[in-house]
Amino acid sequence: MAQITRQMLRDYMHDALPDAELAAVEKALRESAALRKLYQEVIEQEDRGEHTVGAIWRRERVSCPTRDQLGGYLLGAGDPEQLEYIDFHLKVIGCPYCQANLEDLKKLGKPKK
Ligand SMILES: [Zn+2]
Repeated sequence: MAQITRQMLRDYMHDALPDAELAAVEKALRESAALRKLYQEVIEQEDRGEHTVGAIWRRERVSCPTRDQLGGYLLGAGDPEQLEYIDFHLKVIGCPYCQANLEDLKKLGKPKK
């Protein structure tokens, strides 16, 4: 089975895991006391950091960029502030949906307008 990472536990806590991973995390949590301890740590860490931009972002679920915006990001085109926002969303928040979307766009090549 795949390794359960802290990031997965955080996503689990925020209800942001894909179904398959959600089931794997729940199963692992039931079976592993060590993992339950890690999960507790993740929760505490999150509580302490709840006023950081990242935590607020995760908690408030600030909306994901659109596919068009992600396409622009791939090309380095668009409003610099927006590109920064997307960069943050992908790299700091590590949004799994947008990362998957971006991978998909890379495969397709130039995005359609
Ligand atoms: Zn996103």
